Amino acid sequence: MAHSAENRSAGGSVQWEELLPAAFKRRLAACPIVYVPLGLCEPHGQIAAFGLDTIKAVWLCEEAARRTGGIVAPTVGYQIHETGYHARWLEDVVGEVNPHMTAMPPEVMLRFFLYQLRAFANAGFKGIVAVTGHGGGNQFDYRLVAERFARRTGLQVFVASDPELTGGQYEGDHAGRYEISQLLYIRPELVDMEAAPLASVPGAGGRLALGDDYADATPALGKRIMETCAEGLCAAAAKMLDAIKSESVNTAAASAASAGAAEAPPIGYAIMEEIWAELLSSSADWRTTQPDAGQQAVGNRSRWKALERRT
Ligand SMILES: [Zn+2]
Repeated sequence: MAHSAENRSAGGSVQWEELLPAAFKRRLAACPIVYVPLGLCEPHGQIAAFGLDTIKAVWLCEEAARRTGGIVAPTVGYQIHETGYHARWLEDVVGEVNPHMTAMPPEVMLRFFLYQLRAFANAGFKGIVAVTGHGGGNQFDYRLVAERFARRTGLQVFVASDPELTGGQYEGDHAGRYEISQLLYIRPELVDMEAAPLASVPGAGGRLALGDDYADATPALGKRIMETCAEGLCAAAAKMLDAIKSESVNTAAASAASAGAAEAPPIGYAIMEEIWAELLSSSADWRTTQPDAGQQAVGNRSRWKALERRT
């Protein structure tokens, strides 16, 4: 039957890559918001999967799209790491072993993010919600990109790390009670507490950034955390949708007397390059290009020394 795939897609999926055009257009018309999950692979101890940050960002975006409307963009499984404040952190919690990460330089990721925003605008979205499962500072740089893009294009862009969505109820951590609980709730099969002793087995990689209080993690806490994050995300998306709707009412009224509401022409590369040039000229202010204020310098012999400063 020709319409069975369409029905499955329309009824089940909120993922852009799984939608057929008719279902995409319906979802877009009902709620022109796109969610983009930003994660990466990095160690979360011997006990948890590398993609924890990615997996929780996807989960939150899908929940928000199901509850509030909108479409989830393809996941970004690479992110800024190694540079700036990350360098000393890696020296401290990973040491001189291979952490098996999908790390990218800030100037690559932020430029890519800028062009992602362009792609979303050109695909017809009016609002963009980016959720990063990797926090600690990166989100500030993504917001610099988002703010400049929003100013130039009039789109709404919201960027948050998952702990920021909890309104101060949870602080977030790295592979500790907070994060391991999150994974225990959403993907319990990706946590193996019995693997913890590998940390002391030669050649296994050591502690690999495991948090001190990981053993206090529970699925019940994970559920509370993820629900709180999801509620915060849905509230942000609902607020954005209201703003988009009231804006489109005004735009429609203004253009009613003229030729009608034609689709805006696609954004080209030139305006993106202007925004990028402005961003790059202030790269000394990015959080990911230098150590945090007061952060101890990386040891001269550390493998993490070379990328500590990018400016
Ligand atoms: Zn994490």
